[in-house]
Amino acid sequence: MTLAELVPSLGSSLQAKLSERIWPLDTALGHDGDLLLGGVPLTRLAAQFGTPSYLIDENEVRRRARAYRQAMPEAEVAYAGKALSCKAVVRWIDEEGLSLDVCSAGELAVARAVGFPAERIVMHGNAKTPDDLKAAIGYGVGRIVVDSLDEIDQLGSLARYPQRVLVRVTPGVDARTHRAIATGVEDQKFGFSLASGAAEDAVRHVLAQPSLRLVGLHCHIGSQVTRVASFELAARRMVGLLAALHAEHGLTLPQLDLGGGFAVPYLDGEDEFDLTGFANRVRVAVHYECQSHRLPVPRLTIEPGRSIVGPAGVTLYRVVNVKQGGARTFVAVDGGMSDNPRPSLYGARYSVRLVGRHTRAPRRPVTVVGRHCEAGDVLAADVPLPQDIRAGDLLAVPCTGAYHHSLASNYNQVGRPPLIGVRDGVATVLVRGETEDDLLARDLG
Ligand SMILES: *Cc1c(COP(=O)(O)O)cnc(C)c1O
Repeated sequence: MTLAELVPSLGSSLQAKLSERIWPLDTALGHDGDLLLGGVPLTRLAAQFGTPSYLIDENEVRRRARAYRQAMPEAEVAYAGKALSCKAVVRWIDEEGLSLDVCSAGELAVARAVGFPAERIVMHGNAKTPDDLKAAIGYGVGRIVVDSLDEIDQLGSLARYPQRVLVRVTPGVDARTHRAIATGVEDQKFGFSLASGAAEDAVRHVLAQPSLRLVGLHCHIGSQVTRVASFELAARRMVGLLAALHAEHGLTLPQLDLGGGFAVPYLDGEDEFDLTGFANRVRVAVHYECQSHRLPVPRLTIEPGRSIVGPAGVTLYRVVNVKQGGARTFVAVDGGMSDNPRPSLYGARYSVRLVGRHTRAPRRPVTVVGRHCEAGDVLAADVPLPQDIRAGDLLAVPCTGAYHHSLASNYNQVGRPPLIGVRDGVATVLVRGETEDDLLARDLG
């Protein structure tokens, strides 16, 4: 079953629904080619907040958070804050009863700003600085996932007993995703290798630190992972390691964190991640392996980031110009790689929709490009748009809630766009857009 089937739409809209399944569930068709997100017309949002703007549908975020909790009620679901970190979203996550992953003192500061309960926070990171560790200890975060021997030593001397820790393990599973976000394979910067024995060595180091209390193991095989079998294999291997540790140290670790990385469809026709299948297969695999090693079943944690917020986000752009190239038509918009670097980082693909006017013009493939000074600043190559697309048109790009706002930059001294929350017909500025004054404020000449 897919997420959309698991969780029925909240409230039924009188408006017609979109046929593509890459928009938030209650996105509706409005008048004259308009779209309504969270009950608010996109043309109105563009007029009120300008473009580019990031929009986030609160109900969709909450619905997705609930779907994960319902699919695995026995597990802890920790939202990976790096996907989209701001006070409002972290508050929604808290209200929905999820835990929270942070990777830095900065992400922790957002959690602290909304009083997110410390015991439900997990801190990750392959290179936490002393400041990150001090901030985590200062706030009393529930668990720190240790990722290097140096960190274990440092944390050991900074922390007070019992600072709970998990050991990050590289289980040697190829999740078959983009190389830049495949974090479970051997020979990389994250974690301790299971195969080489480094993970067991790390456990010995933790046990030698009187201030640390080892409560479990952690792995994260990658991001935008579509295959349930990859998670299943990782889970089996991790239970194997739990068993080896039990044999060597008599340890019974109560927690097993299997990370996140659940894929979302970016283009119409791409599959939804099989969340129910994942839950069932991982549950069965963990129970089976535990039984065969005579281990109690640990409490599982999963860490979805992208799949909670990605499909809840839409970005609005205004067309600046249309240019005929040698072979292609370029549609240039008022944003680009500063608000969405994913196409240049991972070759990510998006679909684009004209919003706010009706046209009978046939659709033809165009290349939507950004405003930045690089030829590689392409937002969407070969996307069908109406032939009469022109300057001033409004474009909407779905599935832009995760790793957009959080990856944005000021390249070309362009201010980062605002993040606007929409819910039940009301729009709220969650993070205001950056102004030139903001950009100059840090520049001390
Ligand atoms: C990035 C990350 C996640 C979330 O990944 P998604 O692809 O956004 O679900 C979870 N856990 C860890 C440790 C991560 O680094």
